[in-house]
Parts: sequence; C-alpha cells; structure tokens
Amino acid sequence: MTSADDRTAEGEDGAPSPQETALQQLDRAAAELDVSEYIMERLSNPHKVHEVTVPIERDDGSHSIYKGYRVQHNAVRGPYKGGIRYHPEVSREESIGLAMWMTWKCAVMDLPFGGAKGGVAVDPKTLSDREREQLTRRFTAEIRDYIGPTKDIPAPDMGTDSQTMAWIMDAYSMQQGETIPGVVTGKPPVIGGSEGREGAPGHSVAIITREALHYYDVPIGDATVAVQGYGSVGSNAARLLHDWGASIVAVSDVNGAAYDESGLDPYEIPSHEEEPEAVTRVADSVIPNDELLELDVDVLIPAAVSNALTAETVDGIQADMIVEGANGPTTHVADRKLEEQDIPVLPDILANAGGVTVSYYEWLQDINRRSWSLERVTEELEADMLEAWEAVRAAHEERDIPWRLAAYTVALERLEAAHEVRGLWP
Ligand code: NAD
Repeated sequence: MTSADDRTAEGEDGAPSPQETALQQLDRAAAELDVSEYIMERLSNPHKVHEVTVPIERDDGSHSIYKGYRVQHNAVRGPYKGGIRYHPEVSREESIGLAMWMTWKCAVMDLPFGGAKGGVAVDPKTLSDREREQLTRRFTAEIRDYIGPTKDIPAPDMGTDSQTMAWIMDAYSMQQGETIPGVVTGKPPVIGGSEGREGAPGHSVAIITREALHYYDVPIGDATVAVQGYGSVGSNAARLLHDWGASIVAVSDVNGAAYDESGLDPYEIPSHEEEPEAVTRVADSVIPNDELLELDVDVLIPAAVSNALTAETVDGIQADMIVEGANGPTTHVADRKLEEQDIPVLPDILANAGGVTVSYYEWLQDINRRSWSLERVTEELEADMLEAWEAVRAAHEERDIPWRLAAYTVALERLEAAHEVRGLWP
C-alpha cells in the first residue's frame, strides 16, 4: 500500500504523473493539518480498482481487445464521481491519480460525492462511430455492477462526449430494465442532461478570476487576460470575462496565439468546438505559444493541457496571477517557483470545478425527475462557487498559505471529518 511516508519526491521537473501530483498535494495539505496516519493511508489508496477487458468487432469483421479501468478512490462523502476517458495512455496508475483529484475537487466544492475515474486505453480517432458505440456499450456492461446513481456516476472526459454518456445510460438502463438517467452526467438535455453543463468549467474559471481580481484590488474593467487553449474551458472563460469588462489580449490553440494589446473580441474567434484550431486563421496578429505565457498581463489562464507551466517555462512569466483552467497545468516544481516569485496560483480543483458542480445539479434533476432552467443553474453555480471561494479564501488568510494549499486543506478537513464520524466498519 502507498503510505504518506514512502512517496518519491519529484526531484527533477519531468512531467509528474497525476498520481504523484495528487499524493504530493495530499502530503503538503496534511502537513498543515494534524491528520492521523490512518486517514492519510486511507486517502493515499483507492478503495477499489476495476480492470476489465473490452472486445469489439471491427467494421472489417476482425476483432480488437482493449483494456478498460474504473478506479473508485473514496466514497466517504457520497457516491463516487468522475470522468471516463478514451485515450491510448489510459492506465491503472493514471486513473488512480485522476480519481484522487476528483475526491479533492468534490470535497472542496462540498458536493456529496467522492472521487472516481476510468476509461479505455484506445485512440478513439481510430474507431468508426459504430465501433465507438459498441466499445462504449461493452465497457458499460463490464462495469455495470460497479456504477449506478447511488454508487458511481461517470461523466465525459478526454475522448468522450455527451453521445458517449447517452450510450452508457442506454446500455445501463437496458440491462437494469428501467430508464435510469442518473447513472451518468454530461448527457444531452433531451435525456436528462442539464442546461449549462457544457460551459460550466469555463464559467467557474471566470467566476474565480473575477473574485481573485477583486481580492487583489484590480477592477475587472482594467484587467488584462491571456488564455492558453481555446476549447470549451478557455473560450467560455474568455467570453464571460469579456462580458464582465476584462480585456482579453491573447488566446491560443495548438498553432499559436491571437494577440491584440488593446483587446480581442473572443466571440469573433471560433472555439475548438465551433471550428477546430482556427484561432490563428482569424487573427490579425499572431504570436508563438510560448510568448503568450510570458505576456505582462493581470491574469494568465492555462486552459489547454496538463504540465503546461514547467520549471523551464515559468521563469519568463510576468502575469500577476494564474487561474488554472486545465487540470494540472502547473508542475510541482513550477508551483514552488511561482510561490517564490509571489505569483498567486488559483488552483484547478477550485477554478474549473464548475463542471462537476453542474454535474451534481444534473444528477439532482435526474433523481428528482425535474429539470432546471439555465437561469437557475447559473444562479446556483454562482452561489456554490462563491461559497467554495470563501472557504478557500479563509484558509488562505487564516493559515497564511498559498491558494492551492488552502484549497487542499479545505478538502482534507472535510474528508477527515467524514472519515472520523463514520468510523470503520465492521
Ligand atoms: P478542448 O479539447 O475543448 O480544447 C483544448 C484547446 O487547447 C484547443 O483549443 C487546443 O487547440 C488547445 N491546445 C492544445 N494543446 C495546446 C498547446 N500546447 N498550446 C496551446 N493550446 C493548446 O479541451 P477543454 O475541454 O477545453 O479542456 C481543456 C483542459 O481543461 C483539459 O486539461 C481538461 O482536462 C480540462 N477540463 C475540462 C473540463 C471540461 O468539462 N471540458 C472540465 C474540467 C477541466
């Protein structure tokens, strides 16, 4: 079993695995609190790891077999919750790390869920639509006993989407003999998906950016913002911040960045979903991707990939603060360097948690057989984000610790309290 004492330090600033990152962050938060060794050991290890084989018949009549995983990290505060990935690098270890992250994220948002993650080690681009559907239905059959609206609720992640969730819901419902929309979130609204789910992670990034600017006495109307990645998270965050008066001076995709020091109109730049990788095509002025990271702006929002800010790239950063849109965009070493440079980093588990929060609303709507308007979702999200922001701000001030550590202490305190009061069965 992994314990708090036997982790290896990251040492060099290679790309740490999600599991290494999740354990390091847990250790740091535990050092702030007086957490018992027993609870640390429980949180350092997943409750359950399911590994399955997923065979499919290909369109040409041949067969392929893939490995699938569902890791259930912790359910002390409620059913397991987390995404399903289709990506060639999906593995047991990656799923464990990402499941741990979900535990911290749900706890910092005070959602009644624990953490899970999983997926299939496959490149979905190599599959036809029919093959993807077959893979999804077979994977669902393999993990059917472990998931369910009161057990474990999957959601979309890398390589999966609302259609994948619709197939999971259908396959699960057919096998259970009744329609059970609450088994997954991120579904199309026509079968119980929530309004506002798609834009929610970017929405919460915008809310946390707005609150952080206010905290540091920067009027949002005077703020300049650069956004790395113009997918769902980056484009929704950029557009809302623009609506609230901020000046979006740069946004990027894999090809480079659109830049205008007097401010871009983010509605004129197609998001990844509207037109993939079109940022530089429509831009009047283009700069290389690494220059975007070094712009002298009030806020830098990395919203593209993990490990984007490393020991090497972080030296040139001139932004006054960083708000993490992507999951894990800052390596541990880069994080320490930013701390030394006094650049606040508002962490992913708080900033992009709007996604899992609106997933919670979707689940509530499904199990109660009611649907909420977009206005209601927006109002509830605003209130829940502000509540989480307040808890993290209080920990940041009272403990005089960086924002990430503050978020982890909030999460860890809640998890520890739940473990203590529940005790150990039998
Ligand atoms: P997406 O696929 O919609 O878009 C990703 C964008 O990043 C694209 O514009 C792509 O061109 C760009 N990009 C990729 N590599 C880049 C690079 N090296 N430099 C600059 N741009 C690059 O993805 P998304 O859904 O917006 O997710 C982005 C990040 O946010 C991921 O880390 C994801 O895990 C995380 N996240 C997503 C959600 C969600 O529900 N969408 C929720 C929480 C966290």
